[in-house]
Amino acid sequence: MTPTDTDTRPTERNRDERTAEDGNFGRFGGQYVPEALMPALEELEDAYRRYVLENEDGFMDDFRRRLRDFGGRPTPLQRADRLSERYGREIYLKREDLVHGGAHKLNNALGQVLLAKYMGKERIIAETGAGQHGTATAMAAAHLDMPCEIYMGRTDVNRQRPNVFRMRINGAEVNPVDAGRGTLKEAISETMRDWSQTVEHTHYVIGSVVGPHPFPAMVRDFQAVISEEAREQILEETDGLPDSVVACAGGGSNTMGAFAEFIPDESVSLVAVEAGGSSLEVDEAAGVAPNSATLSTGEEGVLHGARTTLLQDSHGQIMESHSVSAGLDYAGVGPELAHLVDIGRVTPVNVDDRVALEAFHRLSTEEGIIPALETAHAFGYLHAVGTDADTALTDADTPPVESDDPLGETIIINVSGRGDKDLETVIEQTAEMGLEAAPDMSVFDGGLR
Ligand SMILES: *Cc1c(COP(=O)(O)O)cnc(C)c1O
Repeated sequence: MTPTDTDTRPTERNRDERTAEDGNFGRFGGQYVPEALMPALEELEDAYRRYVLENEDGFMDDFRRRLRDFGGRPTPLQRADRLSERYGREIYLKREDLVHGGAHKLNNALGQVLLAKYMGKERIIAETGAGQHGTATAMAAAHLDMPCEIYMGRTDVNRQRPNVFRMRINGAEVNPVDAGRGTLKEAISETMRDWSQTVEHTHYVIGSVVGPHPFPAMVRDFQAVISEEAREQILEETDGLPDSVVACAGGGSNTMGAFAEFIPDESVSLVAVEAGGSSLEVDEAAGVAPNSATLSTGEEGVLHGARTTLLQDSHGQIMESHSVSAGLDYAGVGPELAHLVDIGRVTPVNVDDRVALEAFHRLSTEEGIIPALETAHAFGYLHAVGTDADTALTDADTPPVESDDPLGETIIINVSGRGDKDLETVIEQTAEMGLEAAPDMSVFDGGLR
């Protein structure tokens, strides 16, 4: 690599710009929590500053060593040959699907459980929706010998059995939550309740760049290893910066992790791909948004301790969201991402369930990588922009993606996770939508039931 003015240690380079000392990202962020939680947040802020920002007791060195030896980092930045050929661009994949556990989620879970250990905490709790964050937290807790309890909505427990098995096998307790619809929102409330009563000895591992300060900043810093590596790797490989970085956004942790080091690089466009679900039309009366396109269509409000962009009705009630991908199915988004969109640094786009499913099959057959359904949304966007809009959007009702092209020639796509967890959903949904890409399953006697 030839030395350039961008060739400096990224962590030092970007530290000040990354940190929001007071937890405010423009109008967004903050600490909208009950009084009972304030001591916990103050203690955590202090620990975040000392251990993460100032590397007290060599915390960050310990963290990086464990990311390497337990987590399998650094992950490769791989040139995607057939996709590059198909779209006539240089496409690079940041392979977070190769992190232990199959997704970027371990970066954060390991960081927070280790921090809890340094803080002298004796118990870990976490919420989970689809079960991916619960699984990563259970793995990290087993690795660091910490007792672990996961709150999960009753509905989610029943529909995410493999992840419940994984958590139990790693030794974690799984506490089903019966309130409301029995999904992520209720699980978060229940975990907050537990934490406010147990804070002296318990740490709450939040699963994305959401929640009250210091969680959004801290989770971003743990996930920023993605762009710290990717920036060095692309400079090494191409002698220059990419034109764009593309990542899917649910809460936004893989997104912020993939973007963090590139934020000061003004020539690099940052594209967050949300779930367009089945439609962008909102049924206000029923309180349902059949999508999770929070950044593209949401409005400012307060959820789970932070001011951010939300899917809410005109009375401020949180709407029920939808996506074929459970990990993107969330009515909120991280406050920093909301701010970066607000100031025009990040471009929010969305693709629907169908485009994501087609992209899932394309990446699997053309690159030999079975992506998570969340990740498939990022590839769906590449396809929609990279080819003629008419062929990309197979459904006339599909909301069009932006017609202008923010991607440019050299593109890094963050492969946030692998899709083994999604195979059943994919087989079912591709058949239901009658997609041509659906592989023929007549190999089974009598076909698939
Ligand atoms: C959970 C998950 C996501 C969405 O979460 P973010 O916080 O938005 O990153 C994306 N991809 C995969 C593979 C996931 O497991």
